[in-house]
Amino acid sequence: MRELIESWGGETVVVRFDAPSGTWCFIALHDSTLGMPVGGCRIRIYAAPEDGLRDAMLLAEGMTYKWAALDFPFGGGKAVLAVPGPLEGAEREGLLLRFARLVDSLGGAFATGVDLGTTPQDMQLMARECRYVMGQSGAGDGSESLDPGPYTALGVFAGTVVAARHGLGKDDLRGTAVLVQGAGDVGAPLARLLSEAGAEVIVADVDDGRARSLADEVGGAVVAANEVYETECDVFAPCAVGAILNPETIPRLRCRIVAGSANNQLAARDDAVRLHDRGILWAPDYIINAGGALAFGLIHQLVRSESILRERVRQIGDTLDHILASAVAAGESPLLAAQRRAEAILSKGRTSEP
Ligand code: NAD
Repeated sequence: MRELIESWGGETVVVRFDAPSGTWCFIALHDSTLGMPVGGCRIRIYAAPEDGLRDAMLLAEGMTYKWAALDFPFGGGKAVLAVPGPLEGAEREGLLLRFARLVDSLGGAFATGVDLGTTPQDMQLMARECRYVMGQSGAGDGSESLDPGPYTALGVFAGTVVAARHGLGKDDLRGTAVLVQGAGDVGAPLARLLSEAGAEVIVADVDDGRARSLADEVGGAVVAANEVYETECDVFAPCAVGAILNPETIPRLRCRIVAGSANNQLAARDDAVRLHDRGILWAPDYIINAGGALAFGLIHQLVRSESILRERVRQIGDTLDHILASAVAAGESPLLAAQRRAEAILSKGRTSEP
């Protein structure tokens, strides 16, 4: 762990071993140039605690770029609870409450929210002991915790409309075939929005029943989870797992656009170039999937109007529009264009620091 911390470019790492549950708790604060570091709380089993720390560091760095690209006044941070095995009931609750007190004791140096392995209900519990939990209703008593999925889906939808304009030359999604991989918290509301916009929705999920019921609901089709990459469509919307864009899958893709919510879609940065070389337009994941984070950030800034929240999330489409236009103008992958935008906003923040 020492080597990891010494070689990291971030600002601060908080490490706690939670003896009652045998959990290593990591909070990585990567960059506070633009404001308080904010990032989700992930609960996962890792082969070794160091892997959890590494994950926290990488994810915190990703959050720095996500907030910067949105030009939102938050910094990059992430929490990882590296549990020794599945935790349930009182044991899990105890861990969450002790962790909530740890975050609270930082006095606003970090705020957290839902992520892989945690639920809005977990956040509701943590909010009892911690003032820095995102996505609460605003009542201040932990009475309601919002689900980020529908906001994330709205951002992906807005981004897909823009990507279709750049990649297909279409002004709307009518008749556009969109394959949604993963019929979960984001994939399901996304499929509904797509269908309402007149797209032809195709659904794939490792859980066949879930795929079938969503497809039935939106009047779409189902494709087997292992046939996704060979299936012809206009837009492939990965909304399940990461690393699905790699040297093995990219040559098989039969789409013109990839635009979805999954985090870390590229197995490696080179895969952005592979997509670009194949003429497939890729909407950088950390831009297009920022709707949930953005909505929670706005709620934290006391924005309470649902219509304002939705409008601001829809503006993810405008951000993506700039990025795609700048990528085309420079003849480079959208990943580089997104990164340039984030770097420019960060360096403006750095020069205006006292
Ligand atoms: P979820 O767990 O609710 O849904 C994921 C769905 O994908 C499940 O139905 C699961 O059965 C299915 N699935 C898993 N592996 C699959 C595979 N190989 N092929 C097809 N289907 C598969 O998750 P979610 O909250 O909808 O998030 C989806 C993705 O979006 C994740 O990568 C997540 O990190 C990312 N993301 C989510 C949010 C959010 O607001 N929930 C925000 C940003 C990013």
